[in-house]
Amino acid sequence: MTKQNLMVSDANPALNMAISASVSNSSIFTATAHKPLPMPSAYIPITRRKVLKNLEINACVDSMRASSPTHPKSTPSRAEEHSSWILHHPSALDMFEQIIDASKGKQIVMFLDYDGTLSPIVNDPDRAFMSDQMRKTVRKLAMSFPTAIVTGRCRDKVYSFVRLAELYYAGSHGMDITGPTTSSKYNKGSKAEAILFQPANEFLPMIDEVYRVLVEKTKSTPGAMVENNKFCVSVHYRCVDEKKWSELAHQVKSVLKEYPKLRLTQGRKVFEIRPTIKWDKGKALEFLLESLGFANCADVFPVYIGDDRTDEDAFKKLRDRGQGLGILVSKFPRDTCASYSLQEPEEVKDFLQRLVEWKQASQRTCSK
Ligand SMILES: [Mg+2]
Repeated sequence: MTKQNLMVSDANPALNMAISASVSNSSIFTATAHKPLPMPSAYIPITRRKVLKNLEINACVDSMRASSPTHPKSTPSRAEEHSSWILHHPSALDMFEQIIDASKGKQIVMFLDYDGTLSPIVNDPDRAFMSDQMRKTVRKLAMSFPTAIVTGRCRDKVYSFVRLAELYYAGSHGMDITGPTTSSKYNKGSKAEAILFQPANEFLPMIDEVYRVLVEKTKSTPGAMVENNKFCVSVHYRCVDEKKWSELAHQVKSVLKEYPKLRLTQGRKVFEIRPTIKWDKGKALEFLLESLGFANCADVFPVYIGDDRTDEDAFKKLRDRGQGLGILVSKFPRDTCASYSLQEPEEVKDFLQRLVEWKQASQRTCSK
């Protein structure tokens, strides 16, 4: 009888586990049964820590797949799943009239994520440009309602894409907030850019350091791209072969374990490394509502549109406040606290355009 043993050991003997896989002389060994095996009893030492680490990395890769669905499957069960999901998260375009009815008598305030919401997800994050048509629509939106961009990106970077001075910007997951730099009806005339809020200032040197370490660490993974977003670091894997996701997850986690004051979250094809402070897009939404004078205000109707897991903090905040609504941008069914859905940035543009047209029509009616 040939016996192969796989030993799983740990520094603490009490925690040692041994898995013995006994393989009898079955037909697959018949041809060589008469020859002595070079290693009759092969012990492969694997530390328990390593096993747990592998499980952790596998869970991380599963999570990467869940937050970055790329393979629509058109099986009947998938189609049923999608129909059922749409019933619970109907299209915001189909439900436009109902949404307007719910906002009657209230001030609509718009919150927009950037990547995957106003711009398509593209391979090079530095080229995630929004269309001129989308820019025109967002400009008209900002003339109709207070409007904020809430993004994981560095504020300066997202501003270079959007180029609209009329908006509020909450960069680095809301850790870097500024108001409009041009006067509008929602900005009391100040043209000077004023930093409204930067709750993670003390983390700047650490973020710079972890950015440099991650650039070095992920060099060996083709397609990985590290971006310094000032108050957080993004590791994009849009261009990384799915077979290499596990390797990348391992690299990122090995760096992060040296920085207990930073935490790892996941977005759509991106790891986000950010300070452990209790601040997220939901808190940024609340902060902006207060800054706009809507603290404890019943007649405000915030609308948040986003496609990322990190946007769920804002969807949940709205649900908890019982005010306004969240709209998830996704072609695929996903667990979400958003009430409605839109499939892609093009639909977001159509929805924003309808809001603008409705506002203009209602203003015309009022002025008659
Ligand atoms: Mg996004």
